[in-house]
Amino acid sequence: MASRPAILDSRILRVICPLQRRSRHLVNVADQSTVQRPWSHPPASVNIDNDQVARLASRPLHPLTLADLVRHGRPPLTAETLFSSANFTLSLIPVRLAHRIQALRNLPFIVVSNPHISRIYNYYVHSLSTLLPYQERSITNLEDEINFTEVMADLVQTHSNTIPILARGFLECRKYITPADVTAFLDEHLRARIGTRLIAEQHIALHLSSQPHSGKDSRYQPDGCSSCIGVIDTALRPAEIIRHCESFVSEICELKYGVRPTVVINGQQDTTLAHVPTHLEYIITELLKNAFRATIESGKEREPIEITIAASPDPSPSPLEDIQIDPPTPKSESTNTSNSILPESCIPGVTIRIRDRGGGISPETLPNIWAYSFTTFGEDEVMDVSDNGNVDALNAISGAGGDSSSLAGLGYGLPLGRAYAEHFGGGIQVQSLWGWGTDVYLKLRGLGRVRAPSKMASVKEA
Ligand code: ADP
Ligand code: MG
Repeated sequence: MASRPAILDSRILRVICPLQRRSRHLVNVADQSTVQRPWSHPPASVNIDNDQVARLASRPLHPLTLADLVRHGRPPLTAETLFSSANFTLSLIPVRLAHRIQALRNLPFIVVSNPHISRIYNYYVHSLSTLLPYQERSITNLEDEINFTEVMADLVQTHSNTIPILARGFLECRKYITPADVTAFLDEHLRARIGTRLIAEQHIALHLSSQPHSGKDSRYQPDGCSSCIGVIDTALRPAEIIRHCESFVSEICELKYGVRPTVVINGQQDTTLAHVPTHLEYIITELLKNAFRATIESGKEREPIEITIAASPDPSPSPLEDIQIDPPTPKSESTNTSNSILPESCIPGVTIRIRDRGGGISPETLPNIWAYSFTTFGEDEVMDVSDNGNVDALNAISGAGGDSSSLAGLGYGLPLGRAYAEHFGGGIQVQSLWGWGTDVYLKLRGLGRVRAPSKMASVKEA
């Protein structure tokens, strides 16, 4: 697997593409994304003012809420709201990048000197350097806002497809850093990366929403999504995302094994919730890959994978303002429902159970499944087994090409999927019935809230 499935890349590309008309630079960015050359961009090393990095890194991370993210998306989108979105984004991202640079510098020198890890380090330095010119001023005119949006698009592009690079770097350095330290670093790093990317993508999406559209709509909306506020879809249907991911995973499965298992969806298929579609796509794709692989490798391809969608009966969702994107969401009991900008139809949460008959997970494997880089993919082939009992995923990265078109191999699907789910207060639990199959429970917390439980009941029955 890769940092993100191809479907996600094409989504970003769709976000970025309309900007091409405004900038030759972005045409190049978009082209690079199409040809998948993550290694070639940006320059290998950039000079940066260390005092400035230290100053930014000493500032605390702003506890971002979803309300912050959607605030600037309230229609109508004016130039003023775009400027305030840009300035808000500008107030967050340099600090976040500086924190990551500092964390990378705090790794043992031999680790950060690894060519793959130092490549990632250089990407962060490059991205911060593109933002430093904006540090002492705010964005108050359209030209600056367009340029800034291009910088955000460059940031998103630069850090796309970097997970195989990180994975390779840490595998090469595993003699010099303990697995626990790697997990701690990666967990923090990848969770921060999710948040930073989201902030940047939200501004890009709002910028695009403000562009006049040549078609019927007076305003351009990314993906033609009428229920979206930037990258957040206020009426996301998990069933639709599942079908979308199923077709993607089926194709790569058929390519590798020549067969594809069937997927049956039941439960509350009409359920909608407010969430980030790209996050759900990532998680579902990874969980489906695991279920497909287990089903086929255990010779049970005739047994359908059963996916059940259940709307959470919890009538007291957190108010939007209380949901912090970074750090992970604390539980809140508040039921304050004033000033909601999300539809009343939004429900507080959805649980999706993915049930396969792929034989389950062995007791020896089970304790390792949440470790980054742990995989049993290709175990039967010629592979090293490292000291801590993990299969050497380096071979798998090479074998699988480290891209999204492979069914498994990087060992990041479960831990990163869980990081995405937990980002908005959800989670993933795995229940293995060894010798029979696996149930994976994906709990998603809706980002919206419900004004009246009676309304919610009617939505659930729909
Ligand atoms: P990868 O798929 O790249 O190996 P993951 O993090 O997605 O990495 O999964 C880690 C390991 O967990 C897999 O290699 C596999 O051994 C086990 N696993 C995950 N899901 C399932 C499942 N549904 N059935 C059996 N084993 C599973
Ligand atoms: Mg996997």
